[in-house]
Amino acid sequence: MLQNAREQLLTISQQLCHSGLNRGTSGNVSVRAHGGAGQAGFLITPSGMTVNKMTPADMVWMDFAGNATGSRQPSSEWRFHLDILQHRPEANAVIHIHSMFATTLSTLRLDLPAFHYMIALAGGDSVRCAPYALFGSQQLSDYALLALQDRQACLLANHGMIAIGETLEKALNITQEVETLCEQYLRALQVGEPHILNQQEMLEVQEKFKNYGAWAKKA
Ligand code: 13P
Ligand code: ZN
Repeated sequence: MLQNAREQLLTISQQLCHSGLNRGTSGNVSVRAHGGAGQAGFLITPSGMTVNKMTPADMVWMDFAGNATGSRQPSSEWRFHLDILQHRPEANAVIHIHSMFATTLSTLRLDLPAFHYMIALAGGDSVRCAPYALFGSQQLSDYALLALQDRQACLLANHGMIAIGETLEKALNITQEVETLCEQYLRALQVGEPHILNQQEMLEVQEKFKNYGAWAKKA
């Protein structure tokens, strides 16, 4: 089980890198996983390592008291991974990236509004931008948790993006969608002021999303 989760973390980290969503040592990924004796905790990518150097054995297991077990240092962002997995029981995976368009938008410290109906995929009528705090700090984690309230994604001011999901694949899907939306929003802003969908329009989208892709999920 733990070995499987280690391999999954590596695979997702590689996908983030190969798809261009992440570069260098930026970003980190975690997945909920019990420890060897069945203790609650999670596996997280090591700090400061490029993906092409990472192996499954480099993933670090942590408990919810913040104790790390492994031969590597856990990601410097372990605090927000821990806090999110502790406070959002429906989420089993957390992905943090410095993707091009989400990060660019985060430097403007702008929320992503409902300029496109797909915003609903992240759980509401906006993707919030959390205020700036130093990377790896408890303050950043507190801000991130607030910005993620009722949402599956948020931006981090002057930093990047966080996406969460029931599985790593679902969290990956959210990162891809939010990155696309950030690109579209930034492009629209270059030409004019995008129209924003109203509350009723977004409620209709959220309602329709409940059945969207239902047959595809069965296949
Ligand atoms: P780590 O290499 O420690 O995971 O840090 C990367 C990062 O994105 C910090 O915000
Ligand atoms: Zn970061």
